[in-house]
Amino acid sequence: MTDAVSVGDGGRALPEVLPELRRSPGFAELISSMARAMRLPFATVRAADGVEELIKVHRRKHRRTNPSLIRHAYRVADQAHSGQMRKSGEPYITHPLAVATILAQLGLDATTLTAALLHDTVEDTTYTLEQLRNDFGDEVAHLVDGVTKLEKVHFGGIAEAETTRKMILAAARDVRVLLIKLADRLHNMRTLGHKKRASQVRIATVTRDILVPLAGRLGVQVIKRELEDLVLAALDPEAHASIDAMANERESQRRQYVGAVMRQVSQELRDERLTVRVIDRPRHYTSIYERQRAAGMPNYLCDNPRVVIVVQGDNADCYAALGVIHTKWRPVPGRFKDFIAVPKYNLYKSLHTTVFGPDRKPVDVLIRTEEMHEIAEYGIAARHHNRSAHHAGGECDGCWAGESAELDWLQRLLEWQHEAESGAFLESLRYDLSDHEILVFTLDGEAISLPSDATPVDFAYALDTQLGDRCIGVRVNGNLMALSAPLADGDVVEILSSPSAYTGPEREWLETARSPRAQLQIRRWFSDEEKTADVSDAELKAGKSSIEAALARRGRLLLYDRPLIAVARVFGFTNVDELYAGISEGSIDADDVVARLINMIDAR
Ligand code: MN
Repeated sequence: MTDAVSVGDGGRALPEVLPELRRSPGFAELISSMARAMRLPFATVRAADGVEELIKVHRRKHRRTNPSLIRHAYRVADQAHSGQMRKSGEPYITHPLAVATILAQLGLDATTLTAALLHDTVEDTTYTLEQLRNDFGDEVAHLVDGVTKLEKVHFGGIAEAETTRKMILAAARDVRVLLIKLADRLHNMRTLGHKKRASQVRIATVTRDILVPLAGRLGVQVIKRELEDLVLAALDPEAHASIDAMANERESQRRQYVGAVMRQVSQELRDERLTVRVIDRPRHYTSIYERQRAAGMPNYLCDNPRVVIVVQGDNADCYAALGVIHTKWRPVPGRFKDFIAVPKYNLYKSLHTTVFGPDRKPVDVLIRTEEMHEIAEYGIAARHHNRSAHHAGGECDGCWAGESAELDWLQRLLEWQHEAESGAFLESLRYDLSDHEILVFTLDGEAISLPSDATPVDFAYALDTQLGDRCIGVRVNGNLMALSAPLADGDVVEILSSPSAYTGPEREWLETARSPRAQLQIRRWFSDEEKTADVSDAELKAGKSSIEAALARRGRLLLYDRPLIAVARVFGFTNVDELYAGISEGSIDADDVVARLINMIDAR
């Protein structure tokens, strides 16, 4: 976001000196006169036509929009940034304009475009959030504030983590914050070449760890693909160049083959009275790169020809099209996936298959309806657009809060983020966003997304903290399993829980649990316990042996402490150590405890 540079490059970058400069009167005039003196081109290069171009793109999906707000935002932003330059030497306003244009291409509404045009004003100019709120209202102010960095002056080393946390919190109220941030980062990544090498690597790494996964979660594939390739070019330029060279070399041959596939597919489907359009969809470089790595073949272009069949019709027409394709060309066994019946967590729906196409070469085929296609490309932006279309009056700003509430993963981030410190927050966020996800199911068929090495303990805590604390066993696909056994994609999981509200987690679950949420809940349970436990070893031993003796008198053995937690709570203690202490100091009788314990166990 902060991409403004000072005119003249000897001194500190503009963002650093801004807080001081902002306060000085005539700041903008000073900068522009300096720029003029140095013959920088900003005074002659104006992006005024850009805003009309932006409105044109916006009108494609919002025919009846009123562009006056967008024009107003442009004028305010242009004024506020006047005299500032991008590293490329262009006037700064070209950046917010490009960001707004990316969002217009996704089909976003006028409110989002307004906020996008203003997104760097509060951070980088004298224009304040209060002014912005007065001029454009709460909604736009909320969006701009959500993507505004916290200043290093006040937050020091934790500024980055806290800025990210602030953004996530703002997104929980209105997920458009994340869409603006993604478009902002996309434009910054497109223009990354103007930065120093060290900055390129730093920015590309954060993009890879946080923003690419966020784009994936929101289902905005068009942004995710481009960001990934820009990250690859920045972090592994040689691999990127090598793939580029290989792809270019075989491009004409590929196009010829895919062209033949597309013609035949269209013909066959038309004969079956299915109206479709067929799209050539080569893999993006990052996808090829990952396949090369997985296959251990860095010099091989792992990339089947791939086509998308967009069917004019409903789900049944997609299956009909699949039948036609599988009849014409033999399917490669094991490659069919039905993401219509079981959609991915980011709303994605399609049928996937690979067939032996012309000349018996494998061809990847994706089949989906128009609506699925929009959502596959634009994710939440398309879903919202479709919903708004059914909404009286078209636009539905308020509906965005509902979109946020529907995103399980975002709500999950909210739950644990409160408790994590800055460092742990970024770490956990990176983990929670890591691309390797599995979908497991409750007995009712509710899909829960978890990290790929998650265990039943994670599953229990993902459903409900209470259930996690009371979890005593698990059935996976109907079979009893260990709580530490890793879950697999598609598992049906049933948590067996103790009827007692006081059963707590086991300490070793800290090793078993993978998700930040479960880790935090377990740690919190034990830290509550430790706060109240202040008991000497001698007392513990005495209390424990009294219990063991009382059990022995009834012919029982104490194998482990856990059942005792419930009994301790019944007697008003917060944990087992306090119970032992109570026994050793005589405030409670060991025989009473054991009687209660045996009752409880036998009642199960
Ligand atoms: Mn920006």
